[in-house]
Amino acid sequence: MIFLKTEDEIELMREANLLVGRTLAEIGKSIKPGVTTKQLDKIANEYIRDNGAIPTFLNFPNPYGSPFPASICTSVNEQVVHGIPNDDPLKDGDIVSVDCGTLLNGYNGDSCYTFCVGEVADDVKSLLSVTKEALYKGIQEAQTGKRIGDIGYAVQQHCESHGYGVVREFVGHGIGKEMHEEPAVPNYGRRGNGTMLKNGMCIAIEPMITMGDPKIYLLSDKWTVISRDRKPAAHFEHTIAIHHGKPDILSSFEEIENLNL
Ligand code: MG
Ligand code: MG
Repeated sequence: MIFLKTEDEIELMREANLLVGRTLAEIGKSIKPGVTTKQLDKIANEYIRDNGAIPTFLNFPNPYGSPFPASICTSVNEQVVHGIPNDDPLKDGDIVSVDCGTLLNGYNGDSCYTFCVGEVADDVKSLLSVTKEALYKGIQEAQTGKRIGDIGYAVQQHCESHGYGVVREFVGHGIGKEMHEEPAVPNYGRRGNGTMLKNGMCIAIEPMITMGDPKIYLLSDKWTVISRDRKPAAHFEHTIAIHHGKPDILSSFEEIENLNL
């Protein structure tokens, strides 16, 4: 069932999502060679709790294994999604996707940004730019009268036209009182196919894009997903509402991008 949100609920969703944006910016300030993803996780946990919210990902259940042990997912280089923060220092030239969720006043925020660590190779930087562009192309399709497939089509076309791979096994999602609600929002699709988009729908659009083949592999920790060919992967995510017929981006990269990393 798809829960359409009222105006008041959309504003509550915006508060939860802006907190995610501020948390990602707080993390971004500390991303440099030598820092560990566990240190980033500690920053996130403290910042989210200091702002009266709950880090949604901490203890998130896994039907195949242990609950998620951290407040953010940190996916480095060939890791696509759901990387677990650890004590390995980030190295110059790495990329790290930081996915963050908050529960504030009963509503969820969810957003992800792929950061560069030090000086990153030009071909990897291009992967990040194209993935972020694809996110906004997908968002542009989130209008009343269009369908879920229009979003996926826009994301897929943009990424595949650059020779990148679109991961199929993980998709965006409806979001609200629950972190994952209906409908599923794939990063691939056909124009005019799928669920009709309506005012009040809140969805997380989140392209997970690989530099090479889109095939993935789940590590034995039952969380970390890597690209099978071990090429780098990028992940950018916004939560949006369909509001007055148009996409209203509830999360924000503004504070991250003001850091001029
Ligand atoms: Mg996310
Ligand atoms: Mg999500």
